Amino acid sequence: MSTFQNLGLNKDLLQAISDLGFTTPSEVQEKAIPVLLQSETDLVALAQTGTGKTAAFGFPMLQKIDINSRTTQGLILSPTRELCLQITNEMKLYGKYCKGLNVVAIYGGASITEQAREVKRGAQIIVATPGRMKDMISRQMVDISKIQFSVLDEADEMLNMGFKEDITDILSYTPQDKSTWLFSATMPNEVASIAKNFMYNPQEITVGNKNESTAQVSHEYYLVNSRDRYLALKRLADANPDIFSVVFCRTKRDTQKVAEKLIEDGYNAGALHGDLSQNQRDLVMKAFRNNQIQMLVATDVAARGIDVDDITHVINYQLPDEIETYTHRSGRTGRAGKTGVSMVIVSKSEVRKIKSIERIIKKQFLKKDLPNGMDICEVQLMSLANKVHHTEVNHDIDNYLGKINTLFEDTTKDELIKKFFSVEFSRFYNYYQKAPDLNVSDSQGAGSHDTDDSVRYFINVGRKDGFDWMQLKDFLRAILELGQDDLFKVETKDSFSFFNTEKALKEKVLNFFTDFKHNGRFVNVEVSENRGSGKRRDRKRNGSKRSDKRSGSKNRAERRHSGGKSKSRRSKSNDFAASRPRRSRR
Ligand code: AMP
Repeated sequence: MSTFQNLGLNKDLLQAISDLGFTTPSEVQEKAIPVLLQSETDLVALAQTGTGKTAAFGFPMLQKIDINSRTTQGLILSPTRELCLQITNEMKLYGKYCKGLNVVAIYGGASITEQAREVKRGAQIIVATPGRMKDMISRQMVDISKIQFSVLDEADEMLNMGFKEDITDILSYTPQDKSTWLFSATMPNEVASIAKNFMYNPQEITVGNKNESTAQVSHEYYLVNSRDRYLALKRLADANPDIFSVVFCRTKRDTQKVAEKLIEDGYNAGALHGDLSQNQRDLVMKAFRNNQIQMLVATDVAARGIDVDDITHVINYQLPDEIETYTHRSGRTGRAGKTGVSMVIVSKSEVRKIKSIERIIKKQFLKKDLPNGMDICEVQLMSLANKVHHTEVNHDIDNYLGKINTLFEDTTKDELIKKFFSVEFSRFYNYYQKAPDLNVSDSQGAGSHDTDDSVRYFINVGRKDGFDWMQLKDFLRAILELGQDDLFKVETKDSFSFFNTEKALKEKVLNFFTDFKHNGRFVNVEVSENRGSGKRRDRKRNGSKRSDKRSGSKNRAERRHSGGKSKSRRSKSNDFAASRPRRSRR
């Protein structure tokens, strides 16, 4: 087994490593550090967060830069502010004995002039998010024309977030002969093309299987009707009284909604998503780190920077759009040698995704039943009993003991215990004593969406209007203010589409589209004669598979909705923006 000593690190770094309590190099450190120390090579490393990759590029960079010079020699680009601060922090810790070292973080949402001032004082290493970096370059507040090392950290995430152009732009200000070290959890084509275009003959290292789950995490799923998703979340929380968790939602809106509901229901919860101000996000993260928040409800992007080691559970309130993202989510738990559980609340229509995830993480999910009300009561009661048992006695109470003893003179110990626990416990018991079974069995006739309770609609927008099914789903959900599961079976054709909702939402949907305009065109929605998602039936209606591509082959419904026929009904314009106040009154 290798040691930090024989990786070739200098004594200042070894001292910091010893202070940090790192005893053995992690796999990515073992593979990357000697290569980066001994050569001027470019590097592509496939490694996830939590593998020790910051030190894998950080130690060689710290050893190779000239601390006596004030010139900026190293640039580390990272996708989020949180990650940027985290890397800066780690670099400072690793370089604590490198006298004169100045590592500066550059990120949006904080004073640009203050950051420029810090850089001006002489920063050998800059850690930056791409947007703010580009901004500072254009204002000539930084000079990266002499850097020798550039790191693209979490490259897949940066590209995912749309930073490709910014990164390309930033790199064009750096010297040709620098070394570029790219770290990424996955290697989509876009990352490969960055490696190809900006790196010269890079060495490649892979740590473990890039998407494999860590051994310490077990994976469970709970099959429920989608309308019961929130109740299921509460049961999972109640069945685990000491839970310290991240709850992942797919959108910012759902994230906020779920967190608000949890808070209303008395849980220590908080929301973390991109619509919060930086200050709000900092406060939430601080409360989470201090264990004041037990359930942090977060979007995938916002959760990237969470660096908390003792998360007990990751709860997938909804599965991510990209199933690869599941690995990132579940990797938030089971860190630093601890075990963790990744739970998925899943509806019947999504259950097939579990199989695909199993193939990616190379692990099997356990299908578990949600605990019933009485199971939860028992867990809570025993948790309370344990808490009481371990509570240190507050002797300020001694003065009142006489009075209290008189009050309970005729009460036996058993009775006293029962009374005491009833005070705390009745809330749970009352809530749960008649709680229904929320579990759906695999064989049970499909989830709520596949019953006759749904309505299929025709809408006269489609791919030509720039929608794929996912974009249309998000668009419709946003304008109609519907939840994640309220809209389903979305199918886009060239110039029209179909979607379903529960019958209960029919009026809301149809009313909304009486005078709605998108990109200057009236949008019409009608109940489709075709009830299912059945592609065959939709095709039959069109005559052939390709019929919607042919000009002049609009189906009946489409003809009804296209053109200006119905304009006479609507006198005033009501486009997306204009419709907002009306919706908010609902
Ligand atoms: P990273 O993948 O860089 O985000 O690192 C994850 C965590 O592991 C950080 O808190 C590091 O301080 C810690 N770490 C990095 N290298 C080691 C190591 N060799 N031994 C123990 N902990 C480490």
